[in-house]
Amino acid sequence: MPQQFASDNNAGICPEALAALTRANAEGHVPGYGDDEWTQKACARLRELFETDAQVFFVFNGTAANALALAQLCQPYHAVIAHAFSHVEEDEAGAPALFSGGAKIVTADTALAKLTPQAVDALAKKGRRGVHHVKARALSITQATELGTVYTPSEVGALTEMARRHGLKVHMDGARFANALATLQCSPADLSWRAGVDVLCLGGVKNGLAVGEAVLFFACELAAEFEWRVKQAGHLNSKMRLVTAPWLALLEGDVWLSNARHANAMARRLSERITNLPGVRLLAPVQANGVFVELPPAVQAALREKGWRFYTFLGETGCRLMCAWDTTPETVDRFAADIAATAMSR
Ligand SMILES: *Cc1c(COP(=O)(O)O)cnc(C)c1O
Repeated sequence: MPQQFASDNNAGICPEALAALTRANAEGHVPGYGDDEWTQKACARLRELFETDAQVFFVFNGTAANALALAQLCQPYHAVIAHAFSHVEEDEAGAPALFSGGAKIVTADTALAKLTPQAVDALAKKGRRGVHHVKARALSITQATELGTVYTPSEVGALTEMARRHGLKVHMDGARFANALATLQCSPADLSWRAGVDVLCLGGVKNGLAVGEAVLFFACELAAEFEWRVKQAGHLNSKMRLVTAPWLALLEGDVWLSNARHANAMARRLSERITNLPGVRLLAPVQANGVFVELPPAVQAALREKGWRFYTFLGETGCRLMCAWDTTPETVDRFAADIAATAMSR
């Protein structure tokens, strides 16, 4: 199948992760449920990379990571403050509400899919009506955002400072944390716990794994009994090594960052080739591995006719063009040339 721009999850497993899976598999019989050396090493490597003694868990996917982490922070009558475009609000079929037993997501629709301290303040204050309104308990921020933008460490810090003022815990949906890190060139710690994040859902799948996202609790007391929540939800893998051996390969030698840097570079390349075309307008600066762009419906139809796959994301013209760890410059150039040809011929 040809490469597409529909999602970074259309790509397969990266070679380093696949080789690690094969090597771990060749070891024969190994104890289950994470009682193995790959899982120990993957946790240790994450603690080393994040320069802190985090509690680390692995679940099958990002929806479970987010929903279980938020459930851990919230009682059923609590609220989670998130962006209106966020995955927890838009793309999880109510999983955070299910796993928390009722917690509600309250949203702000701020520019570029980035929350602001003012928006967090306003939503948190709504709880002042006492028992009649859900009580704000957590702030959820997405890094990189669902519009391919990033929060700088100081922007994260300003949000978490506002969160603290209202007694909120801070969750970060880091399905594309590596892409944000590659852009910002800061340390993982500076972009997470040092900036006030309590729990990070760290994505591996879009970065080159087959399965498995990590949940890192930096405030270790928040992780109490989390393993039961994971097990009850059906997210404790009995053959854990087959998830954590590829994770370890992604983290060793910083493959996660080189994969992310490559995907980001392909997004920049694509945006540079199409931004000045007639009818084409960027909806957000390209700061991670996605290009969010307005394409006239006729251009979209012509591109789909040529076999290209991508999502119309916002209204009828807002398109999401995602690049992956394996997207080649040739694919980008062919796609850009087809966009140019259709845009110019109108
Ligand atoms: C892909 C993604 C997730 C995880 O989705 P799953 O399909 O459940 O693994 C979470 N958050 C964001 C922002 C995503 O893009």
